[in-house]
Amino acid sequence: MTEKLSSELSQRFLDLEENYKRIRAELEEAAIASGRSPDEVTLLAATKTVPVEVVNHGIALGIRHIGENRVQELCEKYDRYAPVDLQFIGHLQTNKVRQIIEKVSMIQSVGSGRLAQEISRQAEKAGRVMDILIEVNIGREENKSGVLPEALPELVSEAASLPGVRVRGLMAIPPAGAEKADTIRFFSRMTQYFIDMKNKRSDNVTMDYLSMGMSADFADAVRAGANLVRVGSALFGPRVYR
Ligand SMILES: *Cc1c(COP(=O)(O)O)cnc(C)c1O
Repeated sequence: MTEKLSSELSQRFLDLEENYKRIRAELEEAAIASGRSPDEVTLLAATKTVPVEVVNHGIALGIRHIGENRVQELCEKYDRYAPVDLQFIGHLQTNKVRQIIEKVSMIQSVGSGRLAQEISRQAEKAGRVMDILIEVNIGREENKSGVLPEALPELVSEAASLPGVRVRGLMAIPPAGAEKADTIRFFSRMTQYFIDMKNKRSDNVTMDYLSMGMSADFADAVRAGANLVRVGSALFGPRVYR
């Protein structure tokens, strides 16, 4: 490793240490503000574009859950990650499910029956049951994946009927660049759907996780009811796409 590279890396390690401490403190505060204990809120580090060495430093600091977005990047980094709970959080094409089925503990971004069916099929082949979250297109955006809110109950019951998946909750990404007040309204609406689905008590559905909130708004999301937040750039710094 060159001098320059290693000093760049040690600076990233230091930044990460500081960011991780600050984010944990903010999460704790938000959990308490919403009447919950800090250990009821899970921090997942979104690791797209982040070098494995940096992520592994985070794991050494105490990060327990990471999420990758792209199948190819996940597969390239997979063998070099320190032991950690690895989830898939990005848009997933049905023809790539097979590549990650034995590598991840949960797929957070299931927005169609077709994808749920393929995950179930591949999971059965691999002799396992895959935890999934149903992604809701809460902002009703044209080019966004996720199921529209009115179709959510139907997709949850379809997924619940599949032998190879277990529905563990809901996930959403509100529209980028929305006003803070609107984002909070989207979060609150998601919390209401989450509670509604939980109250249905369907077989093979345990509404354990409500995954929403990223770097800019994770504290708002937790105050609105999220118990799983996905934080990338606030932890690791701005993303550099190569
Ligand atoms: C990149 C990403 C995140 C993290 O985004 P930041 O704004 O960097 O925190 C969270 N969730 C998903 C699905 C992502 O793709």
